[in-house]
Amino acid sequence: MTKIVKLDESNFMEVVEEASEVLSKGGLVVFPTETVYGLGADAYNTEAVKRIFHVKGRPFDNPLIVHISDLEMFYRISRDVPDKVLDIVRRLWPGPFTVVVYRGDIPPEVSAGLDTVAVRMPAHPFALKMIECLGHPVAAPSANKSGRPSPTKAEHAIEDLKGEVELIIDAGETLYGVESTVIDFTSDPPILLRPGPLTPEELKSSLGIEIHIPDFVKKAVKVDRPRSPGMKYRHYAPEARLILVESKDYKDLKDLAMAVVDIAKKYLNSYKVGVLASDETMHLYRDLGIPILSYGSRSDLYTIAKNLFRRLREMDSLGVDIIITEGFRDEGLGLTIMNRLRKAASEIIHI
Ligand code: AMP
Ligand code: MG
Repeated sequence: MTKIVKLDESNFMEVVEEASEVLSKGGLVVFPTETVYGLGADAYNTEAVKRIFHVKGRPFDNPLIVHISDLEMFYRISRDVPDKVLDIVRRLWPGPFTVVVYRGDIPPEVSAGLDTVAVRMPAHPFALKMIECLGHPVAAPSANKSGRPSPTKAEHAIEDLKGEVELIIDAGETLYGVESTVIDFTSDPPILLRPGPLTPEELKSSLGIEIHIPDFVKKAVKVDRPRSPGMKYRHYAPEARLILVESKDYKDLKDLAMAVVDIAKKYLNSYKVGVLASDETMHLYRDLGIPILSYGSRSDLYTIAKNLFRRLREMDSLGVDIIITEGFRDEGLGLTIMNRLRKAASEIIHI
């Protein structure tokens, strides 16, 4: 049985206590963070941690991110962390920023047996209070079935996990809508494993740290020897076949839209087709007479990132067989958006 609770100001502490109680008994809780909804277990309860993998259908070699509420937890679960990295987390936490460091006192199951651990202090008040109340770190991947788009609303987690977890906390839409930035600090220079809300450009300008951006961040295809185990798997994918259309510089949006229209026309007679567009191009698809949804304006990448997973799920709800999506420039948050779209896509067309 899954209990679903709507969070509001009046019940905040009551729900915090209920959630931490469920976790302390080895249960699984879907909880809001500022990135996406997480599927949490007490990180020190190995049976509960194993259940996360079963419930998600997550491959056992794909490690989880450990969520903490204070730095004492970080000191305990990590080891040999350079002062430079401590300075960085002190400045960036709580926030959408995950560091990979050497693993200290935390069961190897959370890290799929690796000698490193991925750690983050989330900025959502509920998540922080729940972890604090439990008194243990919480291992939590995104609260979706493995391979599906991450949940940015409780409804998405309900769709995927109802009946398989003890508690789902509904706190409305998440702030960023994409998962945290993951950086491996066991390498020098540090390596960007997953682009997220905090961009390498921002990290450089605010902290002066240079981060290596490996090719795989921009690639759609599987890598042979992945740096981060999560890289091997198709991710974020809607039920429908997703065709991503990329332009060289996105200077001529009419050209981009023409290519999308051509592809749509090719499939229109035999399949139900939908288009994921931007505010700037929406009007160019009107004549097709098919479902068109916008991610938002190209001048506001935060909104585009926030709507990304939600729009993929909405297209599935409309029952389309093929989704054609516009791409975005690989800069700033655009890198994060394209990383998700390329992994979700069945096919990429360059114009
Ligand atoms: P998720 O929990 O689904 O948001 O994904 C977490 C991401 O962090 C995955 O891509 C993992 O492979 C990556 N990750 C977690 N722990 C580690 C680690 N110890 N070393 C490298 N990557 C990690
Ligand atoms: Mg995930």
